[in-house]
Amino acid sequence: MPHVSVTRDRRATLTAFDQFVVKLHSRCNLACDYCYVFELRDTGWRGRPRTMPAAVRDRVVHRISEHVRLHGLSRIRVILHGGEPLLAGPAVIDEFAASVRRIVGATSACVELAVQTNGTLLTDAMLEVLLRHDISVGVSLDGDERAHDRHRGRRGTNGGARHGSHAQVAAALARLDTPRHRRLFGGLLCTVDLANPPGETYEALVAHHPPSVDFLLPHGTWDSPPSGAGGTRAPYGDWLCEVFDRWED
Ligand code: SF4
Repeated sequence: MPHVSVTRDRRATLTAFDQFVVKLHSRCNLACDYCYVFELRDTGWRGRPRTMPAAVRDRVVHRISEHVRLHGLSRIRVILHGGEPLLAGPAVIDEFAASVRRIVGATSACVELAVQTNGTLLTDAMLEVLLRHDISVGVSLDGDERAHDRHRGRRGTNGGARHGSHAQVAAALARLDTPRHRRLFGGLLCTVDLANPPGETYEALVAHHPPSVDFLLPHGTWDSPPSGAGGTRAPYGDWLCEVFDRWED
């Protein structure tokens, strides 16, 4: 094995992380069938409070501020996450973001605030809070209605069929794409499903005018690879190549 040495100064730089994922709310209003947290193996959320308590939020902001000062960071990113972070509600998000801007903003760092959401709670009231604190919005969308609703939705009552969330998310993206809110639009996050044609999926995503799109491979491990993976073929690579070609065209 090659020996890798890291000098003290270099190590200090490497360990000063500059992104903070803050899980404001530990539950979700959707039940996507590929969700690793709520539908698969990670059950750690069951023992956690639904909303991060006020005292913990306060402590988080001060600890981020201490970290920024200690390492003299010039830029950090705080990402509101969950579960579904917007379930925390406009008041909690307003208070937390104001606290980050006031306390961490008093350090040397330029603070970027962002939220990653399933889009179903992106109401006008919520958008006003996000606008007030300049919180960039990333929305999860898997393609057109058929592609998206294949996995992303609410569980039906009494074991009934899943209700898709595409219509709600599309309406939220239309609100985000207005002149007032447009600058908040951070991009889309699309989980790849080989059952969804790559070209159509790409076109369905760009129809919402996102400034960027990230493609996420479905969760998998070496022992339990995602559907269609394994063997000598690389179907996810082929899928992504087709999207790349469409984008390049
Ligand atoms: S929206 Fe995200 S957190 Fe909620 S069930 Fe779907 S994948 Fe899981």
